[in-house]
Amino acid sequence: MTDEDERWMRRAIAVARSKGSDPASAPLGAVIVLDGREIAAERNQTKELPDATAHAEMMAIRRACEGLGELELRGATLYSTLQPCGMCTMASIWSKVGRVVYGAGRADVHAMYFEDRHIDTLRFIDDAYRDDITIEGGCLRSECAELYYPPDADLPPEELANM
Ligand SMILES: [Zn+2]
Repeated sequence: MTDEDERWMRRAIAVARSKGSDPASAPLGAVIVLDGREIAAERNQTKELPDATAHAEMMAIRRACEGLGELELRGATLYSTLQPCGMCTMASIWSKVGRVVYGAGRADVHAMYFEDRHIDTLRFIDDAYRDDITIEGGCLRSECAELYYPPDADLPPEELANM
């Protein structure tokens, strides 16, 4: 993890915070960088669209592919304020990004942010046919974790996104 990574993660945090500071507004941000240049910066838009697949990472991948006019994002780095869910981890593999960097990890936030009980979806990366993709977590971990419900939060049913 480099100073450059922290700089891009601060940008992802700013994109997330554009939704406000209340965890109820789902402030998740993702930025895709290619050759030192931002090619997409998107926030979670599930409720706004509405579209259950409109996670920040999915939206950023869509914008980046549209912007480049390319199906593949080889050599690009995807920054996300929170560990990608299983869907977004798989989308990272399919989109051919070379590197995924996330801030807060699964253990840093409430279980409502993840879809499965026991599977470690980060292992999708280890198990991919591709051997040119890496994933690293903990970039500005505490700043990112502050955006979300903590692990021990007692949440009302309407906030339990994965139920
Ligand atoms: Zn996701």
